[in-house]
Amino acid sequence: MAFTRPWHAHYAPGVPAEISYERTTLSAALKRSATRFPNEVALNYMGKLITYAELNGMVNALARALTDIGVRPGDRVATLLPNIPQVTAAIYASFRMGATIVPTNPLYTERELQYQLGDSGAKAVVALDLLAPRLEKVIPDTMVESVIYCHINDYLPFPKKQLFPLAKKDMYRRVVPSSRIYEFLSLVKSASTGDFEDASSWDGLAALLYTGGTTGVSKGAMLLHSNLSSNVQQWRAWSADLKDGSESVLAVFPFFHSAGFTAIQNHSIWAGWKLVLVPRPDPVTITELIRNYHPSIIPGVPTIFTGLLNNKEFRKLNLSFVKGFFAGAAPLATDTINELKNLTGATILNVYGLTETSPLATGNAWGADFTPGTVGFPLPGTDARIVDLETGTNDVPAGQPGELIFKGPQVMKGYYQKPEETSKVLRDGWLYTGDIATMNENCEIAIVDRKKDMIIAGGFNIYPNEIDDVLSLHPGILEACVIGVQDAYRGETVKAYVVARPGQSLNEEEVLEHCRKHLTGYKVPRQVRFIDAIPKSAVGKILRREMKALDEKLEQERASKAG
Ligand code: AMP
Repeated sequence: MAFTRPWHAHYAPGVPAEISYERTTLSAALKRSATRFPNEVALNYMGKLITYAELNGMVNALARALTDIGVRPGDRVATLLPNIPQVTAAIYASFRMGATIVPTNPLYTERELQYQLGDSGAKAVVALDLLAPRLEKVIPDTMVESVIYCHINDYLPFPKKQLFPLAKKDMYRRVVPSSRIYEFLSLVKSASTGDFEDASSWDGLAALLYTGGTTGVSKGAMLLHSNLSSNVQQWRAWSADLKDGSESVLAVFPFFHSAGFTAIQNHSIWAGWKLVLVPRPDPVTITELIRNYHPSIIPGVPTIFTGLLNNKEFRKLNLSFVKGFFAGAAPLATDTINELKNLTGATILNVYGLTETSPLATGNAWGADFTPGTVGFPLPGTDARIVDLETGTNDVPAGQPGELIFKGPQVMKGYYQKPEETSKVLRDGWLYTGDIATMNENCEIAIVDRKKDMIIAGGFNIYPNEIDDVLSLHPGILEACVIGVQDAYRGETVKAYVVARPGQSLNEEEVLEHCRKHLTGYKVPRQVRFIDAIPKSAVGKILRREMKALDEKLEQERASKAG
């Protein structure tokens, strides 16, 4: 049967079905934005404004400085930074000099850090100085030769500068020979900001983005410049009415995660938009930044929106300047959609993707309503199929669940130095996502769950996402996480962990009654436990695997107390 793309008919007006990609790398895109919008703000860091011309100059200077300290095209440069100006400068300097950037989560433990620096073979690290004690321990067992330390204060405007104590230089004198330690500001200030010849190439390896935090061993997704640039262009085409140089985006998603990296940072730089940096994504800081700087686009992982909607100050804000809330990276609860809609008139865009797709793969049509629980349509130039879970080769009948697979210019080259893992997910040119999905008659894709999280109870397939969503509809529940636990009779059964809204008293029977109202019997949790917080990843995704591990620990404690 010929391959068809019926979803094109559902695109918003002005969105092309296919894109003729410009072979412009992100480094070249920054240079272009600096020419088109030299005096427009690129980065707003707690009130410190950095224009496009300044950012481009900073990137030239850092590329020059990195070259001077021995970093070469093709080398890996890791960052260990929150969303502060230095992270964007380091990412784009690495692009510009033809190196590969390895964005790393600054909250990583020594073990995780050691693995990522070792696996990527990073030669230089740009890190926050406060992380020196952790870095110090792992560096001797890696190939890291140079460390460039940044201070959270470096670019803060004057009064705010005083809020942070300066880390003592002596603190990190022992990491590597002191001749290999540099300070970001002095490097950048001593190098020329004049044009640095752009060494990025369309087919070059732009980034290793590590993924697998929620699925297993961490793997470096190899993203080429062509992947990143194509994905930015696909996304740029999605909201045709938003003009270049005109919007400001709240950068809550950390840039070390694929969503923050491309969908927020790289896309904004391509379009010449303002990035309002959020170095600490807590509801109080976010609310203050929204109040002060009026971003027109507010993206976030759903738990960020849950946190904001639960914050009194956020609810008091007049949000008339917001054009869109972009939710992605994890399931968006129906309740959150309804609340955001009621609070503001802004569009809600639910976006889906994976690190392996650079990351954007689908989105609901910009400006249009969508069926709750769906993540819209494949982006322009992206092919999608839903195939049987057993063989992965046959398309399932319309409306039936199967594994979602993609083909498109944004699909990664493979996992770095992991051919076996690569061959499991890249087959015949298709990327196997490991997500179970359906497509409805309007071509809207719904992510049912991850293949790995599916609970099989008494022969029935149960998708924990659906139950989480139902639980979060209860007014007394802030958030919930359902897991599968062993059961002598059903094989596996459903157990729910629930966080009550502050000040609410809630008992197990009320929760179960709510579930019975909305779910068929076999899906209703057999056990409900109350907990203060649910384990989350650095971007705020609920970590079901960690919830399971925590459950085992809590049950053991309970058993030893009882026994
Ligand atoms: P990561 O590689 O960390 O970005 O994780 C990708 C995974 O996040 C996907 O395979 C999905 O399981 C999940 N995900 C991403 N976006 C969404 C979304 N909008 N709704 C539901 N799940 C999502």
